[in-house]
Amino acid sequence: MNSSQTPPKKRKRLLAPREEIAWFPEIDVSNCSGCGDCADFCKPGVFEPGNVDPAAKVLLRPRMTVAYPYNCIVLCTRCLPVCPSGAITLPVKEDFDRFVEYVD
Ligand code: SF4
Ligand code: SF4
Repeated sequence: MNSSQTPPKKRKRLLAPREEIAWFPEIDVSNCSGCGDCADFCKPGVFEPGNVDPAAKVLLRPRMTVAYPYNCIVLCTRCLPVCPSGAITLPVKEDFDRFVEYVD
């Protein structure tokens, strides 16, 4: 393989039922602008806009919610740099390594 080729991605296998692995993002709603970039980016469909407060005096974009946390791919961190507000956090990867095995 020459240096311009990327190595093939290894497939991951989970070592516990997905619902027993608490790997998913959290959103700091006070920092979320509701831009929607995370929802547009995440192919497994983890995010969904929340409800707009009907009592709000100004019309704001709905804040994003983690609507389907267990759709999140264990150990994926790809949405972190996508959020322009730094509102997304994920758990510490090293704490979840034991739930994943790599297969060829
Ligand atoms: S970590 Fe990956 S799968 Fe999980 S919400 Fe972010 S982009 Fe989606
Ligand atoms: S990318 Fe960040 S600011 Fe935009 S909707 Fe998602 S969490 Fe909110």
